Amino acid sequence: MIEKVIPQECVDIVERIISEKERFVLLSHKNPDGDALGSSLALLHYLKSRGKDAVVVLPNLFPDFLAWLPGADDVILYEKSPEKANDVIEQADAFFCLDFNAINRIGDVSAVVEKNPAPRILVDHHLFPSDDYIAKISFPEACSTSELVYRLVTALSGEEAVTYEMAQCIYTGMMTDTGAFAYASSRKDIFLIVAALLQTGIDKDLIYRKVFYSSSLTRMRLQGYVMYKKLKVYNKYNAALITLEHDELQRFYAVKGDTEGLVNQPLQIKGIRFSCFLREEHPGKINVSLRSVDDFPCNEVAAEFFNGGGHKNASGGELHCTMEEAVKLFDAALRKYGQQLTML
Ligand code: 5GP
Ligand code: MN
Repeated sequence: MIEKVIPQECVDIVERIISEKERFVLLSHKNPDGDALGSSLALLHYLKSRGKDAVVVLPNLFPDFLAWLPGADDVILYEKSPEKANDVIEQADAFFCLDFNAINRIGDVSAVVEKNPAPRILVDHHLFPSDDYIAKISFPEACSTSELVYRLVTALSGEEAVTYEMAQCIYTGMMTDTGAFAYASSRKDIFLIVAALLQTGIDKDLIYRKVFYSSSLTRMRLQGYVMYKKLKVYNKYNAALITLEHDELQRFYAVKGDTEGLVNQPLQIKGIRFSCFLREEHPGKINVSLRSVDDFPCNEVAAEFFNGGGHKNASGGELHCTMEEAVKLFDAALRKYGQQLTML
């Protein structure tokens, strides 16, 4: 049996909002990943199955390997169609906020959302959620927000409510946030949920291939280049760093998603417990991705050094500086956290 984790009071509030309201906007974070898009689309399909008018609004585009998800074509991207996004947000009767804990994670979309007093419901698995929600479904121990969407939908309407489309979206979110069930996925409920999703007829092997075996040749070459030339290992600290500058990304014709997962790879080296990837999105703006294993809290490093946050083992942030300065910050972080990194 799958344990019940969402309190009934919370389910009741969500049920009341869904019954009473008509127009829903589902929001998720900037640079959407498989869980952001998967959880949003799954809930979208559920709301539509209840006859509601629902739409997903994202700050910017998701990687191409997620474009096959049912409903992805109808997502409104704020970056591409700000007027359309503004319109639906202004007219929304209620918001679902998925896979982010703080409103600044949705970028410029937050300013428009803040103007609409409609109730907001949070469904998320990050630490430290903010407070302005009528219902807060916040469980950092969940493997993904998609897992929580499964729990919410079944709490509201039973297992029969989970359709093939919803299952594809939920499975994708659970799979991508756990590195295909390689980490953050030791709870038995995760596999009970996967079993229930398989009952709808989804093909998990096919989903795996669609998401992970969808590289372009240039992406493979970029990965080879990174492993050969751009990966630095700090043996003393059990740490690794990858840097990619804007002109290097251009040289390999990198498109959105091409560097996805790169930060995890150094963790395959025996002994490495902390990995950092600095990606110069454009000159002067550096995206930071951090990953760790065991108890090393990379979210603390993200908050202290990289203007970010996230989960204990997967965090991120951003810097407005040169690559040289960013590397200096990383060095400083290693010195500060050195003792924790070398402790076994
Ligand atoms: P990624 O490295 O895949 O971009 O991000 C990994 C995780 O770090 C995300 O799921 C999210 O929880 C967190 N994260 C990434 N960027 C930021 C950021 O700028 N601020 C905060 N608070 N968390 C971030
Ligand atoms: Mn997530």
